[in-house]
Amino acid sequence: MFHQVFLDYSFNSLEPYIDTLTMETHYLKHHATYTKNFNEIVKKIPAFHDKSAEYILSHIGEAPPELREGLRNQGGGYLAHNLYFSSLSPHDGGIPEGMLASKINEDFGSFDEMKKQLSAAANTVFGSGYAWLVLDGDGHIVVEKTANQDLPIMAGNPNMLLPIDVWEHAYYLKHKNLRADYVEAVFNVIDWNKVAERLEVAIRL
Ligand code: MN
Repeated sequence: MFHQVFLDYSFNSLEPYIDTLTMETHYLKHHATYTKNFNEIVKKIPAFHDKSAEYILSHIGEAPPELREGLRNQGGGYLAHNLYFSSLSPHDGGIPEGMLASKINEDFGSFDEMKKQLSAAANTVFGSGYAWLVLDGDGHIVVEKTANQDLPIMAGNPNMLLPIDVWEHAYYLKHKNLRADYVEAVFNVIDWNKVAERLEVAIRL
C-alpha cells in the first residue's frame, strides 16, 4: 500500500510563491488520485506486492501488458509528486550549500547557470511534464525533461534529485498561462537540503 508523502509544512505556507488553493488541489485531489489508482493497479500484480515504487517503475515491462500504461501514468504520478512535494519548503532554502553547492559549481559553473538551464527546461516542456535535476551515469548533475508522468527512473536513471512539476495543475490557478512566472517563483521554495540528501544517497549507490 503506497501513501502520499507526509508534508511537514501547511498548504498555505508556500504563499506567495505557490498559492494555498493550488497546493490543496494538487496534493488532496491530483496526487491523492494518482496514489489511489496506483495502489489499485499494483493490487492486481502479485509479483509487485512487496516491491517499492522505485522497483516497480523500473520494472514496468514485467507487468501484464494491459496494466503497463496505467502503472506508468499512475505510478509515475504517485512517485513524481512524492518527490516534488518533499522538495518544497517554506523555510526559504536559499541556495545549496556544502557538497551539493560544489557539485553544481563543478557541473554547471555556477548556481545561476544551473537555475538558468533548469528553468529553460521547465519552460520548454511541451504540454505536461517535468524538468529534473538528475545524477547521470558519469556522476554529473544534469538537467532533463520528461513528458506526462514519465520519470527518469523509467529510462534507467534512479538518481532523481529534483523534479519541477510543470503540469498546468501546478500553477494555472495563480499564474494562468504564465508558466515562466511559476518556475521563477518555485525557486523560492525549493528545499535544497532535500536535494543534497538525495545526492548523497545517489553518490553512495
Ligand atoms: Mn502535479
